[in-house]
Amino acid sequence: MGDVITLIIDCIKSTASTIKNSSNKAKQGIFAGVAVLAILASLSFTGARIAYKVNYSGHTIATVSSKKQFNEALQLVVSMVNGKGVETVVEEPEFNTTVVLSENINNTTEVADAIIDNTDAIVRASTLYVDGNAVARAEKRMLDSIINNRLNSFNVENQQCTSRFVGEVLCEDGYLMATNLDSKSDVEAVVNSLAVITEMRQVTDVMVPYKSTVQKTNEQIVGYSAVTVTGVSGVNRVTQDIVMVNGEVQSCVEVSNEVVVAPVNEVIVKGTAKTLASAKQKQAAHSAGFIFPVPAGSWKVSSYYGDGRNHKGIDICAKSGTSIYAVADGTVVYSGWKGDYGYCVIIEHEGGMRTLYAHAKQLCCNVGDIVSQGEIIALVGTTGQSTGNHVHFEVIANGRNVDPAPYINLD
Ligand SMILES: [Zn+2]
Repeated sequence: MGDVITLIIDCIKSTASTIKNSSNKAKQGIFAGVAVLAILASLSFTGARIAYKVNYSGHTIATVSSKKQFNEALQLVVSMVNGKGVETVVEEPEFNTTVVLSENINNTTEVADAIIDNTDAIVRASTLYVDGNAVARAEKRMLDSIINNRLNSFNVENQQCTSRFVGEVLCEDGYLMATNLDSKSDVEAVVNSLAVITEMRQVTDVMVPYKSTVQKTNEQIVGYSAVTVTGVSGVNRVTQDIVMVNGEVQSCVEVSNEVVVAPVNEVIVKGTAKTLASAKQKQAAHSAGFIFPVPAGSWKVSSYYGDGRNHKGIDICAKSGTSIYAVADGTVVYSGWKGDYGYCVIIEHEGGMRTLYAHAKQLCCNVGDIVSQGEIIALVGTTGQSTGNHVHFEVIANGRNVDPAPYINLD
């Protein structure tokens, strides 16, 4: 600044001496020169200077100190943009002379940014690199969105998942020529072909079925069955670490397995007794002297008296056609069809006792017949309410059903 002022003062001194010996016209020119010098001097004092407003693409985008600075900015743009032909898309600007404060002149980087911002053919975009190779170029937000869609597509709802690409995938932001951008469908095709590894911590509640335990009791008849504790299923919470590639499970490791609700095991009580008769009742029954109603070795009991369903007799299974004997001497008081009993015989014995034989295939006696112990009165069948060949045998004492087991020595 000092040099400039000295120069101006020297100039004014020499000009003053020249004026004395000059014509009017020459004097006018000298005054104009002096005026310019004075402006320059005042500019120097205020910090203002001559510069150029850059009119680019229809409006002012920056202020430069010189056209050279603009060209430097242009070279910077060329180096910033990843692609060829940048010079051909940058328009020729207009430079308009102006006076500005030095601090209002843009630096070269700012000018380069302004050129890029105002050139539609140059775009800010991302390049996708896979294992070091550039495979796609797209507007950053679009690329990010396609990448996230690919990764998220393997996430499982309501589970903690993290997905990443198997290969090394990088996005680099920068400036590209708009003509070098790939179409959305092309970018999707590239991204959707990349393998994705997903790590998932899966928490699952698993139903644990209850178990059944059977308690046997001789206080109930064979066939009796009752649930004394109702079974309730439990719940276990299983946590697993699962690794998937493109949604296919590659490994699964159980991390924990904890009981959330313990199961309640069912308890079933089953009877083992053939009769609930007392010793005294058994003794009385034995003294009646009854024989077994079918031949020895030909039978098997399928249901005892009572047995939890108020069974009035004993079911003795035997082959169809097996002989049915009168268990004691007596008189036939019924021989015929009797509803659910099917073909049925009832014999009256002495002492107010009756015996009943049901589901016969065939009857071998008539009402009023006097029968002897061991006489064949009918043949085993499955008539009436019956699901297989058997004799339903009842003992009725003075009109009331009693347990037949001790009468035929099944106790
Ligand atoms: Zn029966």
